[in-house]
Amino acid sequence: MNTVRSGGCFCGSVKYAVSGEPVLSAYCHCTLCQRLNASPFMQTIHFESSAFSWDDKPTCASSLESFEVTTKPWKQRWRCKNCGTNVASHNSKTNRWSIWGATLDRDDDGKILDWDALKPTSHMFYGTRMLDVQDDLPKWDGYENKSKRLD
Ligand SMILES: [Zn+2]
Ligand SMILES: [Zn+2]
Repeated sequence: MNTVRSGGCFCGSVKYAVSGEPVLSAYCHCTLCQRLNASPFMQTIHFESSAFSWDDKPTCASSLESFEVTTKPWKQRWRCKNCGTNVASHNSKTNRWSIWGATLDRDDDGKILDWDALKPTSHMFYGTRMLDVQDDLPKWDGYENKSKRLD
């Protein structure tokens, strides 16, 4: 049986579920993640399309809005209209969804549930980093295993 994990936006209107294990979990230092989230880097977690679903409550559907960035029109990005949180995106070239790790459900202490199964295994697009990270994870210039390894 597949493990189902869930997450959503800050205000709770938008919720999603993902089943099974991710195909990739990494810290992304690309300039799009930086600028779209006003953050030095993000955790992105990729799932096959069939593993992802939105909550079926009407509040979820009515709170979702999508947008595209002109340089990457194959990626449809979804956010909550009420609180503005970027939650997930769908890549029509790879037919995969990515969720941002920080939106996963948390326990009462604020820790992400099942973190060990979902935590990043590398840094991607490390060439455009805004800070150096001192850890043992591999660091890639672009996508994991598809670009030059920097460290
Ligand atoms: Zn929201
Ligand atoms: Zn990125």
